[in-house]
Amino acid sequence: MDDISHDSATMQLPFAQRPIVILGAGIIGCATAHQLLQHGFSVVLVAEFLPGDQDITYASAWAGAAWHPAGGITPNQRYIQAITHRVLLKMAQDPDSGVSIVDFREMSQGEYPDNFHSAWAYQTPVTDPTLHIPYLKKKIIGMGGIFIRHRARSLQELFDKFPESRIFINASGLGSKTLEDVQDDHCFAERGQNVFLRTDKFHTMYFRNGQEYTYIIPRPLSQGVVLGGVKQTDNLSPDVDPYIAQDEIARAHRLAPDIVPSQPAVEDISHIIGIRSSRRGGYRLDSEQRGDNTVLSAYGFGGGGYAFSYGIADALLKMVEKTERAKLID
Ligand SMILES: Cc1cc2nc3c(=O)[nH]c(=O)nc-3n(C[C@H](O)[C@H](O)[C@H](O)COP(=O)(O)OP(=O)(O)OC[C@H]3O[C@@H](n4cnc5c(N)ncnc54)[C@H](O)[C@@H]3O)c2cc1C
Repeated sequence: MDDISHDSATMQLPFAQRPIVILGAGIIGCATAHQLLQHGFSVVLVAEFLPGDQDITYASAWAGAAWHPAGGITPNQRYIQAITHRVLLKMAQDPDSGVSIVDFREMSQGEYPDNFHSAWAYQTPVTDPTLHIPYLKKKIIGMGGIFIRHRARSLQELFDKFPESRIFINASGLGSKTLEDVQDDHCFAERGQNVFLRTDKFHTMYFRNGQEYTYIIPRPLSQGVVLGGVKQTDNLSPDVDPYIAQDEIARAHRLAPDIVPSQPAVEDISHIIGIRSSRRGGYRLDSEQRGDNTVLSAYGFGGGGYAFSYGIADALLKMVEKTERAKLID
């Protein structure tokens, strides 16, 4: 039987244990499934888009994906990022994971543009989603996790389809805007369009915030770098905007002329378009009771879903354990 194409009408489960049901199979749903399975839980992931899919609204297929410390976050969120950093460093020991390390060091004057105050080259994990998401899928299936392709109208629909389950995780990203019984109007789409440049100069990551938001993210395992960035609110166009692509190449060239030529050869370039699932006020991570069921929500990670992923999975594991304990001793 196909490992992911279960009959979505009946959703018959091959095990008696009550599974934790995760809505969403992006990096948040998959990292969480991986973490739960490692701790002995049964897990079912229900999602419209699954690892390997290429829809532009499936953000996890298109990320850079750099780990870098986000600005303006709480100490708790910093800790969540630190956990992710630790997990990714370990994963980088396995080249199949798609995670690799690029250097960290403070750069000396003369190495960076004159109009910068200071700069660092630092050792940090970068994740290649084209390798990491399939890797996670394999790990999840290997540990007994089940993927079901299904577009849910509501959380209630999942409660009805999995009457034996009591813990549901909503990791549906932008889907939380339209799920009938969530309708989170803080969620919004933020379009990204990146250039992938084939090159053998893939050792240093550049990030420039402020006026000229620009990044160069190495993808050593795909022999190239990802050039960005742009954020376009509520634009869902799947078409390459050539002006954006040219502008990103020009900005990246100004930032690192030794890596990015001003006019790269056409055959060295391809385009990446994806929709970030963003949320005004920041991401949601909380627990709520809906009848007999506990819903743990984890969505709205905008441009940082990979940097938060394994820390969020760890937080959700603890929330699941706390919920289970409370239900068992009730
Ligand atoms: C161009 C670009 C560059 C980026 N660069 C970085 C980076 O450098 N570093 C970083 O940390 N992050 C980066 N990101 C952000 C990162 O990709 C996202 O934050 C992350 O992928 C969000 O993961 P997610 O699992 O929450 O959502 P998604 O990956 O969007 O997954 C959502 C899942 O929920 C499912 N779903 C939704 N609604 C329903 C429904 N009703 N029924 C069934 N299934 C449903 C979907 O099918 C999907 O499986 C980038 C994003 C883009 C687009």
